[in-house]
Amino acid sequence: MNRRAFVSMLGGATAALAQQRPYDILIRNGEVRDPGQKLRRRADVAIRNGRIAAVEDRIAPERALDVIDASGLYVVPGLVDLHTHCYHSATATGIEADPVAARSGVTTWVDAGTFGYSQMPGFRRFIVNPAQVRIYGFVYLYMNDRNPDDDAIRYIRSQMRATGETATRNRDIILGVKVQVGSNMSGRYSPEIFRIARELCDKYKLKMMAHISFAPPETDEVMPQMRPGDVVTHCYNTHTIGILDANKKVRASVREARSRGVHFDVGHGSGSFNFAIARQALEQGFPPDSISTDVYSSNINGPVYDLPTTMSKLLALGMSFDDVVEKCTAAPARVVDRLPGMGSITAGGPADLALLAIESGSFQLIDSQKNLLKTEKRIVSRLTICRGKRLVAPM
Ligand SMILES: [Zn+2]
Repeated sequence: MNRRAFVSMLGGATAALAQQRPYDILIRNGEVRDPGQKLRRRADVAIRNGRIAAVEDRIAPERALDVIDASGLYVVPGLVDLHTHCYHSATATGIEADPVAARSGVTTWVDAGTFGYSQMPGFRRFIVNPAQVRIYGFVYLYMNDRNPDDDAIRYIRSQMRATGETATRNRDIILGVKVQVGSNMSGRYSPEIFRIARELCDKYKLKMMAHISFAPPETDEVMPQMRPGDVVTHCYNTHTIGILDANKKVRASVREARSRGVHFDVGHGSGSFNFAIARQALEQGFPPDSISTDVYSSNINGPVYDLPTTMSKLLALGMSFDDVVEKCTAAPARVVDRLPGMGSITAGGPADLALLAIESGSFQLIDSQKNLLKTEKRIVSRLTICRGKRLVAPM
């Protein structure tokens, strides 16, 4: 047989195999949960070319090249962590996105302002492009790079235009501007810097992600300035800019902001998630709009660990499994708003999936203030699939 005939025969064999086994991956026998679509059914999920190809009661295993048995597992949309740190700066060293994603079910990371506009090319080239997972970001407007002799307000104002233009030019991966609203971050300039951030986001029509920590400004001054689609992160902190008043009641200004479409995000972090505050909020009908970790290098070994651990904390505080999953999939995907089908399991949509288990046993959870919470259930990830491929953690 000459070479051409051999190659043609091989091509024919590959085509025949593709016909017999049209799916790259088949996940069988799992419990499919996609609360964003109120989908709960035992079903098989087939993947082809990076997309969900079929969700059916039963799909023959002979039709796929790679068959995964998900018996006893929940097949959920790939988790979207709305507040993380993937970029590397002196103050907040990010995590390695792919290995952490591989063990935690996350398929989309949102970097919440670890980089300023001047670091944008590095963020795209060294963080977003090489990653198998999907990475987006909020560009920061901070005082970090200021020469101590510079007037702080003049310095921040000098960053406005470049920050707004950078966010606009990189709209495919930049979701908006991150601002730290807190005197611990910006000292006496805090209220003025918040005003400048507002002005910037209005001018360039960008979402604002506002970290809230210590007054001034006061909560009741911040909330009316948040627009629909903006994100308030660290919503269950113990700080003086918080969602509860002195009587532990959810503030009217906070409820009013939510009713206008302001998004309240957990953003656990080293110092911003407290069991008692979260419990009080949940009891008063104020669940989070999204559950996120604020993970970075110095909290990944506790108290944050990973997103399934943060999810377990909200589960232990009384949220249902479906609600917890929705707040890590469809809900944050609406904030990202860059990829149709993200955060859901839909034929034709991106094949981003997490295989989760609920383990039973005796577990201890810890919040940012080192309070302990005993629980008998915890959520763990067994497999992450992103862009139709298994994410494998390096040895
Ligand atoms: Zn953060």
